[in-house]
Amino acid sequence: MTQQTKPVSLNCPNCGGAVMSDRSACEFCRSRLKTVGCPGCLGLMFLGAKFCSNCGRKASAVVVIEEKADCDCPRCRRPLQLLEIDGVRIRECGRCGGFWSATETFEELCSNSEQQASVLGFIGSDAHPHAHPATISYVPCPDCGELMNRSNFARSSGVIIDICKQHGVWFDADELPKIIAFINKGGLSRQREKEKIALEDERRKLRDDQRRMAMIERRAGVAKYDDELENSRFGKIVSRLFDL
Ligand SMILES: [Zn+2]
Ligand SMILES: [Zn+2]
Ligand SMILES: [Zn+2]
Ligand SMILES: [Zn+2]
Repeated sequence: MTQQTKPVSLNCPNCGGAVMSDRSACEFCRSRLKTVGCPGCLGLMFLGAKFCSNCGRKASAVVVIEEKADCDCPRCRRPLQLLEIDGVRIRECGRCGGFWSATETFEELCSNSEQQASVLGFIGSDAHPHAHPATISYVPCPDCGELMNRSNFARSSGVIIDICKQHGVWFDADELPKIIAFINKGGLSRQREKEKIALEDERRKLRDDQRRMAMIERRAGVAKYDDELENSRFGKIVSRLFDL
């Protein structure tokens, strides 16, 4: 993301001292610092700051619910951390920056741009030296341990995500920003439009099939009627008359 490029001077949320945004600790009070993106302007801010010093927007509320959640990163095999970012609960791996989102959470995230800004600001702001390159290896679901399916998000995004149909979606560090960019470019609604058209095609085919079946049945009915005619005396006369 763009906010990784050049460090700016920010205030330490703990002591208020001026610290460059690329520092991981405050020079004055030694508190640990982490930069996140402002949900409003995407400018850098320190986690824990109340407001963005650039645009004044209220910072995302990030709460660590559990330091070590009861499930592991499928790539690093280390416990994930359960976080809540403006009410959105995700489990993040502190090492590789990948994270795990329950299916419902992810669905909500796809349709809620406020949430997207908050989560993106949080996860898109750190460079991850241990980020995993997009590999073709299958990884286990953090919840049930079954190998997850790999799927091209929305079929056409080109972002391959790992999914456990029962439990959720795993994103490697750079995948969610790509997906959100895709959604914001209208990719998801385009894909839904395509699916709608495919569905309508399907329905039309079904209706055609039904019409054809009805026609065949009608013909079969007529044929049966013809047989009955054939067997009746009257029928015999008729068939002689009309050379049936
Ligand atoms: Zn400080
Ligand atoms: Zn801002
Ligand atoms: Zn990891
Ligand atoms: Zn699972």
